[in-house]
Amino acid sequence: MIPILDLKGQYKQIQEKLEKNVIEVLRSGSYILGPNVKAFESEIAEYCGAKHAVTCANGTDALQLALRALEIGKGDEVITVAFTFVATTEAIGVVGAKHVFVDIDPDTFLLDASLLESKITPKTKAIIPVHLYGQPAQMDVIMDIAKRYNLYVIEDCAQAIGSTFKGQKVGTFGDIGCFSFFPTKNLGAFGDAGMITTNSEYLAKRVVSLRNHGSAVRYYHDEIGLNSRMDEIQAAILRVKLPYIDEWNKKRREVAYRYNELLKDAEGVVTPKEGPNTYCVYHQYTIQVPHRDEVHKFLQENGIGAMIYYPVPLHLQKVHSYLGGKLGDLPVTEDKTTKVMSLPMFPEITLEQQKQVVDTLKRALDSVKVK
Ligand SMILES: *Cc1c(COP(=O)(O)O)cnc(C)c1O
Repeated sequence: MIPILDLKGQYKQIQEKLEKNVIEVLRSGSYILGPNVKAFESEIAEYCGAKHAVTCANGTDALQLALRALEIGKGDEVITVAFTFVATTEAIGVVGAKHVFVDIDPDTFLLDASLLESKITPKTKAIIPVHLYGQPAQMDVIMDIAKRYNLYVIEDCAQAIGSTFKGQKVGTFGDIGCFSFFPTKNLGAFGDAGMITTNSEYLAKRVVSLRNHGSAVRYYHDEIGLNSRMDEIQAAILRVKLPYIDEWNKKRREVAYRYNELLKDAEGVVTPKEGPNTYCVYHQYTIQVPHRDEVHKFLQENGIGAMIYYPVPLHLQKVHSYLGGKLGDLPVTEDKTTKVMSLPMFPEITLEQQKQVVDTLKRALDSVKVK
């Protein structure tokens, strides 16, 4: 059995340091917004090349906090993609704003910036590009349009920590970058955790207040906020892991390029394409395959943990049905939804395991052809 992701291998590499740091937290008596959170915020701000990093409880809250800090809510429109995890639009919905979907680029699965202007209305307040699968969106074009129309940009960096566009890290282009440290992300905690990055001192302060019951000074509450803080234990764990992230991302890239080689002669398979000027960190290695659902089933039955991210585009999800999204609205998104499949991807996967994945995939392709 080869899982989509194996977190135990990584744990073993750094087990001693992790356990030592966690025990220190347990013995410290300080569990919320303590010294580890403070230190992690400055360490990761430096890593990201952002002036400020403010941690919170998870990536979904990070998006919500970003929207709240920018005063986006009822009556406002936010442009984003339907080819993403539901958290992106959930956050827009929670603050009372309306999402407006733009289709994706067929090669990279990312927001198609050439369609962006056609979606802008007088109500548009912000754009949320999603750096899906670890691949940065074309931030130069997006920022250019945002500046011309005076729109905010919130980057959804949940899957892309450490990736760069033109050498600059994601999360530093727009007004706010939103990150998740869910255990399966490239930099994962041992529970839920998240963060925003920004170069604006004002926005950083707004999020510091909003994440802690709308309070900048203890027991003085200025507005309705959230309870959305990072645990000391999670910060202590992330501080151990942060120094390894570049090495792990580099290994993910090597894994991706090995898959590309192994899949060269796999009939009908389209391997992932990198956009220009990007350093992709391959949160997922996502191919396109014919007869996707049958191939996927075959892989699952034969011990390969392939996954579909995501089987239903967001405009067709029940939760968003009140907005009247329908089949045909986003042709590229809809088409890709029927073709994509992600293969096991983690820094520690071996060449032997990858060969087994690809051999099984080729058998799957043969078996659907025979039928
Ligand atoms: C994981 C993820 C989120 C949400 O992060 P959580 O920490 O799980 O709340 C948001 N957007 C994308 C694209 C994600 O993959």
